[in-house]
Amino acid sequence: MTKTLLITGASRGIGAATARMAAAQGYDVAVNYAQNREAADQVVADIRKAGRKAVAIGADVSNIDGITMLFAAVDKEFGRLDAFFNNAGAFMPASKFVDIAPERLAQIVALNATGAFMCAQAAVRRMSTRLGGKGGGIVNMSSLAAKLGGAGESTDYGFTKGAIDTLTIGLAKELAGEGIRVNAVRPGLIYTEIHAGMGFPDRVDKLKDQVPLKRGGSPEEVGDVVLWLLSDKSSYVTGALIDVGGGRGL
Ligand code: NAP
Repeated sequence: MTKTLLITGASRGIGAATARMAAAQGYDVAVNYAQNREAADQVVADIRKAGRKAVAIGADVSNIDGITMLFAAVDKEFGRLDAFFNNAGAFMPASKFVDIAPERLAQIVALNATGAFMCAQAAVRRMSTRLGGKGGGIVNMSSLAAKLGGAGESTDYGFTKGAIDTLTIGLAKELAGEGIRVNAVRPGLIYTEIHAGMGFPDRVDKLKDQVPLKRGGSPEEVGDVVLWLLSDKSSYVTGALIDVGGGRGL
């Protein structure tokens, strides 16, 4: 039976690259997006060209109604869930810590932390062998910001990614006996459109000299690690927080 992978935030960036690569490795893919239907449709078209099933599902994963709707659509369209890449996330415009307003904090926590928590819960309800599922794999999207802290520009973002690391450790331990491995990737500076959300579209090129490998990373270099963590090749790996940052943060 072909395995089904759900990726939140799969219309652009790391999620889209991973979705295309997953199809090449034989997965059917549920492609979640928030606004950008056209980009999601392009990812779906590419996956179908590779001979796999794909469906674009528009749903805002920063609130529980969107999450409920997303997983109901996966149930209806695919009838199974074997792997989940908990990827959707965003930056806010660069800001000093003292200027971060409660509304802004609530917004980024709702997407990057609470939304990811509730999405993982919905995935586990479908995968857990204790609850009648067939087991599965989850990869959470953290960031090197969880280690570096986002000082001076995005302490709110760093704070949410620290929560993802902690969630990953707790779920790995709690779910190891229920057929589910849970890991996280912590990318560094990756070439995607997310940096424009902070107000610095060329942020990767500006900072790349601080990276020991002296370059930014590609979305595919993150996708490779995600798909390895979701595969049987990493069968003895759970609770790992894997840096994908060219040596940044060491
Ligand atoms: P991106 O290119 O900006 O793509 C973001 C994706 O998330 C898009 O598909 C977007 O959908 C979706 N999305 C945004 N808000 C959403 C919501 N409320 N509900 C559902 N989907 C939503 O970003 P990226 O760089 O690939 O980032 C993906 C993840 O990697 C994020 O969690 C980010 O924190 C993490 N990360 C990125 C880097 C980096 O350097 N790029 C480094 C470390 C960690 P639409 O297209 O519909 O807007």
